[in-house]
Amino acid sequence: MSLTLKTGVEALPGVGPARAKALARLGLFTVSDLLGYYPRDYEDRRKSAAVAEAPEGVPVCLTLMVAEPPRLSRIRRGLELVKVRLVDDTGSITATFFNQGYLKDALRTGETYVCFGGVEGQGNRRQMTNPVCERADKVRFTGRILPVYALTHGVSNNLLAGLTLRCVEECAGQVEESLPQDLRQEHNLAEAEFAVRNVHFPTDEEALAVARRRLIFEELFYLTCGMALLRTRRDKAAGLTFRLPPEEDFFKLLPFSLTGAQRRVMAEMAADFSAGAPMNRLVQGDVGSGKTMLAAYGAWLAARNGYQCALMAPTELLAEQHFRTLAPLLAKAGVRVGLLTGAVKGKSRKELYAALETGTMDLVIGTHALLSEGVHFARLGLLVTDEQHRFGVAQRAALSAKAKTPPHVLVMSATPIPRTLALIIYGDLDVSVVDELPPGRSPVDTFVVGEDKRQRMYNFVRKLVGEGRQAYIVCPAVEEGESDGAENPSAAIPLKAAVTYAETLQTQVFPDLRVGLVHGKMKSKEKDAVMTAFAAGELDVLVSTTVIEVGVDVPNAALMIVENADRFGLSQLHQLRGRVGRGKHQSYCVLVTATRSQDSRERLRVLSKTNDGFKIAEEDLRLRGPGDFFGSRQHGLPQLGIADLAGDMRVLKEAQTAAEALLRADPGLTRPEHARLLARVRQLFSDHGDMFN
Ligand code: ADP
Ligand code: MG
Repeated sequence: MSLTLKTGVEALPGVGPARAKALARLGLFTVSDLLGYYPRDYEDRRKSAAVAEAPEGVPVCLTLMVAEPPRLSRIRRGLELVKVRLVDDTGSITATFFNQGYLKDALRTGETYVCFGGVEGQGNRRQMTNPVCERADKVRFTGRILPVYALTHGVSNNLLAGLTLRCVEECAGQVEESLPQDLRQEHNLAEAEFAVRNVHFPTDEEALAVARRRLIFEELFYLTCGMALLRTRRDKAAGLTFRLPPEEDFFKLLPFSLTGAQRRVMAEMAADFSAGAPMNRLVQGDVGSGKTMLAAYGAWLAARNGYQCALMAPTELLAEQHFRTLAPLLAKAGVRVGLLTGAVKGKSRKELYAALETGTMDLVIGTHALLSEGVHFARLGLLVTDEQHRFGVAQRAALSAKAKTPPHVLVMSATPIPRTLALIIYGDLDVSVVDELPPGRSPVDTFVVGEDKRQRMYNFVRKLVGEGRQAYIVCPAVEEGESDGAENPSAAIPLKAAVTYAETLQTQVFPDLRVGLVHGKMKSKEKDAVMTAFAAGELDVLVSTTVIEVGVDVPNAALMIVENADRFGLSQLHQLRGRVGRGKHQSYCVLVTATRSQDSRERLRVLSKTNDGFKIAEEDLRLRGPGDFFGSRQHGLPQLGIADLAGDMRVLKEAQTAAEALLRADPGLTRPEHARLLARVRQLFSDHGDMFN
């Protein structure tokens, strides 16, 4: 039977219902899926040697004849052992196979095989254990570079490599070229067919590199095109037009006057609101720059226009904090504000749902709970998400979908992101920057200290607490001995584990102070209880893991200590530092490190030299690559098959430039010669529902 790209996997030889099910777990349903399932690694099986010359322990291919019938023995119950003697012109070798009893009959005396594996022993005692054996006239997996795939239960690498080989042999030629010819020429990109063949079964390293480059490029290219398309589509979409009442009416509600940067962003938002197309704006601003007031402005404006606003925060604590700030402020303008978190249940939840559905509530502040099925809006006009990097494109889309007309969308983020990356993560958004802090804040004094200063540091904690202030101490791990999963350049240094450390601090260092503990493994209720106690001044010192990273506001906290600071990225440290210096008190940040590496210390000193989040982010990108910006963070982008956003920066830039140029010429990719390209872009985003419809 001849295969096509659309052929289902169950039509492939050796794939029954059980295997098809296992393959489905890897997202593999068709030949096309198999071809798009790129190896995670490769095994070089090209070296060959004669028995006498094969180096010890280095896997090689040997071409060998079976010298005498294999012997089968059972060493233990259930454990079968096949031994066979093989020869070539230079000598003989014994191969031992465990639990492959069928080989007793499969290996034929006098037949020649290629065996791949490591050779042990010298002279006439040469031997191999569990080599891969193939008949010399039918080699598939030896003598070449073999792909190594990510697997699942019930799918072995041999199975997958075999299926893929078959698909490559029969169907690689059917893969359509999606990149325009001139683009391929300009950027030196291999053809699609070559790329597909060589990414799975490369003829040599060079072919592999060329294939990978093409595939990485195309993926990043599709990604950039997709984000840009989302943006053009939306620029054309009809949106709600808000009237703009006098700003003074809003200013009157505030206890302070807004900074220049806040006013500028307000004006940018106002222009969007009144333009007739939906706003899709990212507001980036350092921690403490006052982004919440911009959300307040949006909510106020929506309410004045008779529309509702939803503000989504990543944690209950943050949602409650926003609620406490915004409800009284906006109440003065008659804006009715509600809070919806997982904790709101039963009757109160029903009432809240009803108020949203009938339109008697103007602003709802909440967590993911806002995405619940029961949530319906009478007239949703504005959607605000706070600390966006915790939400994905898809969640933003899900919430927007609750509105009849596409609502205005405002995304707030405190993570400064260099432009190249912002284009990827927020490619569908316009960007505003709040680059000014409210007056009266003095920059946080930052120090990098070694272990020798620990006692002095504790004395400093005591002194500040004596003055009525509070302190955070952040540790990288939760429990003793737990690693934070990072590459460990300083393995000898025990990580300060939050749990034991908090205990020691309370019992031995600060028995007279109130020490609290919060970490990511606690239930969110417990976490919130501790944070609330700290915010209320019922704790002096709060030991925590990085769970406090996200925008919690405790103006009385004036000291941030970070243990094992060398374990954190600069941007992350900057975020942590932003937890202090939010009130009128002079604040401090102490970065503790036992590392002797000059580089690590130098890196940390960047923080004592500047408070500018963007500068720090650029520095971080320069020093560590973009891992920190992606890493464990959910960015909600489509899943990439081959490109690694953290590792392929150069290709990323090139792909972006190419995509920008192409879209300038054909903004909607509507020209017939771009039809395949458009199809691939849609496919990449298909997990997100049809975002292009
Ligand atoms: P972030 O940008 O990190 O979300 P917030 O909106 O939480 O910052 O603001 C941080 C603190 O600054 C809050 O206590 C807020 O009330 C205060 N603030 C915001 N804008 C101003 C301003 N223009 N003048 C004085 N204080 C302000
Ligand atoms: Mg905030």
